[in-house]
Amino acid sequence: MKDIRIGYGFDLHRLKEGRRLILGGVDISFEKGLDGHSDADALLHAITDAMLGALALGDIGKHFPDTDPLYKDVDSRVLLRAANTLITEKGYFVGNIDATIVAERPKMNPHIPEMVKRISEDLSIEPSRISIKATTSEKIGAMGREEGISATASILLFSKY
Ligand code: MG
Repeated sequence: MKDIRIGYGFDLHRLKEGRRLILGGVDISFEKGLDGHSDADALLHAITDAMLGALALGDIGKHFPDTDPLYKDVDSRVLLRAANTLITEKGYFVGNIDATIVAERPKMNPHIPEMVKRISEDLSIEPSRISIKATTSEKIGAMGREEGISATASILLFSKY
């Protein structure tokens, strides 16, 4: 019987000087970047977590532990592709993704088409199946004070058979 699975992911990384800002696989020019063991791409981490969550396979930390030197400064697109391989092996594929980035600055909108393009390449799905949105936090709370950037993602997976 064909199966449909929903997945949800959330991630947050702290903004820090001297780090590159990478979101959705795109290197964004900004005065600070996201801190983490990997490249700290909060958007790709939220999407990867949603993919794993949809099949109850645990989370990104279980599959790619930040205690493993293998994942030091790793390009999160590698993790996204690995998660895609995992769900493919289980007989599923991504139907669509709807994600939101919460960042006070910089402006995300100019970079969203390139993020969509890269994610569609990594998952081998049409760009029209990928929605990435961005909002500020209205200067309220940690995101509003530019202490970090967070992202959420919902995903649908379909079984092949
Ligand atoms: Mg993360």
